[in-house]
Amino acid sequence: MGSPQQLIRNHIKTLKAYSSARDEYTGTLGIFLDANENSLGSSTSALYNRYPDPHHATLKAQWSEIKGVATDRIFFGNGSDEPIDLLLRLFCEPGKDHVITMPPTYGMYAVSADINAVENVKVPLKYDFQIDLATLKETWNENSKILFVCSPNNPSGNLLDRKTIQTILDEFPGMVVVDEAYIDFSSEESWTDKLAEYPNLIVLQTLSKAWGMAGIRVGVAMADPYVIEMLDKIKPPYNISLPNQQLATEALSNEAKKNAYVEELLEERTKLITALGQLPNVRKIVPSDANFLLVAFEGAKEVFNYLIEETLIVRDRSSQLHCTDCLRITIGTKEENLELMNLLKAYLEKSVSKL
Ligand SMILES: *Cc1c(COP(=O)(O)O)cnc(C)c1O
Repeated sequence: MGSPQQLIRNHIKTLKAYSSARDEYTGTLGIFLDANENSLGSSTSALYNRYPDPHHATLKAQWSEIKGVATDRIFFGNGSDEPIDLLLRLFCEPGKDHVITMPPTYGMYAVSADINAVENVKVPLKYDFQIDLATLKETWNENSKILFVCSPNNPSGNLLDRKTIQTILDEFPGMVVVDEAYIDFSSEESWTDKLAEYPNLIVLQTLSKAWGMAGIRVGVAMADPYVIEMLDKIKPPYNISLPNQQLATEALSNEAKKNAYVEELLEERTKLITALGQLPNVRKIVPSDANFLLVAFEGAKEVFNYLIEETLIVRDRSSQLHCTDCLRITIGTKEENLELMNLLKAYLEKSVSKL
């Protein structure tokens, strides 16, 4: 099992973080002439003339309550994409270390690695979209600093086997990032319960999916307090804007609404699986623990283009490994899903009449 204290890059250990005005005086009442803000007000009706809380104290307290994770294990970022980038910078020496990704998976891991000039070693998932543990073990070495495990996986939608992830946590020499962007739609529990047991574990979640807040860019990393301390050291001081902190707080105060959305989307997912399964040109629907389905069609490209013409947009994933002829379809509203099915049926009738 990797230890974060040993894995972190040396220059980060000794690096001194930027100290903002809001770090040096943390009281909330007083006359504030310390941050060169505009003391008179803002050019908007709501007031945004003050810098936001760099420590996200309100958000952390809320998240801690909801998730049962201590506040010193919580980091808020500008989307999950920010902690993905920051983790690469914490652990990977460019030109020397590497990360491991398991395609087909979320594209940002590879892009972030590229941006940081860190090699991305690919150990593809097997045809059933499960982890190839044997190859993984043959591949990893002391320069493998981060393994990205996306479960439920995007674009396939399935959960990755829990026992395999457990073995990885026990044996992988670097840090294990489990990306749980879709965990709310899953029947399985989160890995956050294992954070105390595994200091090498980092769990990513986000407000972008089940919480319905993709527009405000708020993501969460949960990890050992030492990793959180290091993330805090290197993040841009005010990485979550004031309105976004306020909106995230409003969202997190309304967990019942999130749960109701999840319930409705899961019902719609079940209905859509049944309906799609009856179409003669659907070859496969990957079992989904997320709010989308990966569906293999006969002639997927043509189906995709037809839908586009009808201004219904799905994602063509057919170029991804093991995803030949696959479209990724987000679960929509009841009406949107009915429209999708109507269009797919109309497409079939049109192709039959052409014969
Ligand atoms: C959508 C998604 C995210 C969310 O990213 P944000 O930057 O938080 O919006 C993270 N990981 C995966 C696998 C996703 O599909």
